[in-house]
Amino acid sequence: MIKRINHIGIAVKDLDAAIDFYKKLGLEVSSTEVVESQKVKIAFIPVGDTRLELLAATSEDSPIAKFIEKKGEGIQHIAFHVDDVKDHLKKAVDNGIQPIDQEPRPGAHDTLIAFLHPKYTGGVLIEFCQEQD
Ligand code: ZN
Repeated sequence: MIKRINHIGIAVKDLDAAIDFYKKLGLEVSSTEVVESQKVKIAFIPVGDTRLELLAATSEDSPIAKFIEKKGEGIQHIAFHVDDVKDHLKKAVDNGIQPIDQEPRPGAHDTLIAFLHPKYTGGVLIEFCQEQD
């Protein structure tokens, strides 16, 4: 069952400028992390029991660079908090929704993640996100 939003991914060109903006709203960055496989640097901003993830490209061929080129800065994906990514992935496929990731893969913040293809989700890039302990 999906009980909450784990995080909202926001594509930004300039990570420091974006952090400055959210600071003006009274929000604070808890940590940053580079995910080499995705060519992104992420700043985590806790908001209650969810968080914003500011995503900046570390390379021109990063998915985030491509996203900004096509659509500009802004909300890039929504991540649902799930107990079992594999199970949710299978249910989606059973319901005719094609994933980007056929198998769960490691995400930022020690999570297991999988994305659904926006073509099958009304244009919203949806991520299943499972926290590992
Ligand atoms: Zn995410």
